[in-house]
Amino acid sequence: MKNVESPLRVAVVGAAGRMGMEVVRALSGLEDVQVVAAIDRVEVGKRTADLIGRDVADLPIEEALDKALDRTGAQVVVDFTNGTVAGDNALVALARGAAPVIGASGVPADKIEAIRKACSEKGVPAIIVPNFAIGGVLMMHFAQLAARWMPSAEIVEMHHDQKLDAPSGTSLRTAEMIAAGRAGEFKAPETKIVHAEGARGALVGEVPIHSVRLKGLVAHQRVLFGGVGELLTISHDSLDRKSFMEGVKLAVREVRTLDGLAIGLDQIMFRA
Ligand code: NAD
Repeated sequence: MKNVESPLRVAVVGAAGRMGMEVVRALSGLEDVQVVAAIDRVEVGKRTADLIGRDVADLPIEEALDKALDRTGAQVVVDFTNGTVAGDNALVALARGAAPVIGASGVPADKIEAIRKACSEKGVPAIIVPNFAIGGVLMMHFAQLAARWMPSAEIVEMHHDQKLDAPSGTSLRTAEMIAAGRAGEFKAPETKIVHAEGARGALVGEVPIHSVRLKGLVAHQRVLFGGVGELLTISHDSLDRKSFMEGVKLAVREVRTLDGLAIGLDQIMFRA
């Protein structure tokens, strides 16, 4: 929904990181959104225009989220730091009435519950999005549909070699969605002899996840389903960080219309 007269005020945390810089760039071009603060613990004092490009909102990188929110009255906080930091930042934002859009992966379960509670206490919504790529969200949705009919499933997620965490937030969410989509109880096949630890991946919701880290990759996932005499592979590739930006814009524009904490962009894309 566009409101050109009073653009939505957005703070970006992790603004000097790979995703954060892309977000500042993507949001800077919008009429209905204004980036009002850029927060990071590195490059503090430098200008976003020098770091990212002349055509972006020109702001100093600052360190303290609470001060930035108090000063700017940001209504939405987009966070691409890491799961632990983003969980704490969301509580800082909610305490000030700003709606968090969390892109960082791996927010701990206890923090998710704390965010859920803060959302209902403050009456301010939030969203945690494991994958902002529209095709990535569809891939997860299709995997949940397939899970009802295909008895075995394994996930191979592949990312660039600088990724800090494993398995990816997308693969964890996909495994949860497969578990939720299954028709009945399921137990992953047991391997009796394991020659090297980790050979069968990490088990999440009885779905083994295998993490590949390679130079040259961005973010890729294959969901492999096996049935009697047949295989189904659901595949998604983010070839550029730009692939996440349509989803970021959608979440930024819609988060304040949600009720409480939502997990996954599907909560916006597929709502009635
Ligand atoms: P990055 O390391 O390039 O950027 C992270 C930034 O956060 C850095 O600039 C770092 O200085 C900053 N930071 C860390 N701790 C901080 C703190 N306490 N205060 C302020 N700033 C802090 O990483 P990246 O590749 O941009 O990825 C960031 C996160 O986004 C990761 O968790 C990654 O898995 C996730 N990610 C999510 C999606 C998605 O679609 N949801 C897509 C890509 C990446």
